[in-house]
Amino acid sequence: MIENSSNKLFFLSIISFVFFVVGVSPAHAWGQLPELRTDEGRGHIVFAALERGRIGYCLETGDASFPPADIELQVEAALKVWLVEVGDFLQAPVLIEKDCNRESLDLSVFVGPAEPGATNLGRHSLIEMDGRPVSRVSVNTAPSHGVRVERTNLFDFDPGLVTAVEKAAFLDHIRDEGLSLNEVASELGLATTLPLTASIYQTLIHEFGHSFGLCDAKEATYEQRCDRAFRSRLVPTSLMSISGALNLMFDDRDGIRAIFERFAE
Ligand SMILES: [Zn+2]
Repeated sequence: MIENSSNKLFFLSIISFVFFVVGVSPAHAWGQLPELRTDEGRGHIVFAALERGRIGYCLETGDASFPPADIELQVEAALKVWLVEVGDFLQAPVLIEKDCNRESLDLSVFVGPAEPGATNLGRHSLIEMDGRPVSRVSVNTAPSHGVRVERTNLFDFDPGLVTAVEKAAFLDHIRDEGLSLNEVASELGLATTLPLTASIYQTLIHEFGHSFGLCDAKEATYEQRCDRAFRSRLVPTSLMSISGALNLMFDDRDGIRAIFERFAE
């Protein structure tokens, strides 16, 4: 509670001091994948966005409880979560199109049960398709993998979401308002955030961070998986370091901008 104007001034100066300190120290945890240096690294979709202004994606589903039309909406929304941060590097908004032609797709997405024994919620790799590298994301829907969570479809929590337009508007709302897990849970009347952390949508956002070229900013694997020359030093919270967020955090925004800055012209 600020009682008078001199207190107000004091608070303002504390706040500016904090911003000053944060501004001059490398308080970010993002890192970039080492393969961005290699020829295969051209499979990362930062290049599709910068050079062609278009990301063509192909979706394959292998789990009947996740309707392809729902997942397509979530794939497109999860790509936009990243792209809205880098609009100033682009001539025009990036076109996101369904494209299953092997010669022209940029991103191949699979949503379904992973191979037996897999413990991951999602996985990113670069694969070769007709001699060119393509970003591949697999989202595991199997309920019995290592962390034992039941994977969820965000739209299932709100019976009011029926049409594609309503569903897309709900995802836009989460993004435009920058809603946290808690806020979305309370809007949906959920008792805990757990079902949201198990949602396919949050896994897509994280894996697409890899598709653009960001590495896992988890402390345990940082040294092995991130390029020493393109990373920040500290490890604060980001959705590339924890799972469960439905929006980018400060560090993710800074990281995606650093990738576009590196490869733009
Ligand atoms: Zn990851």
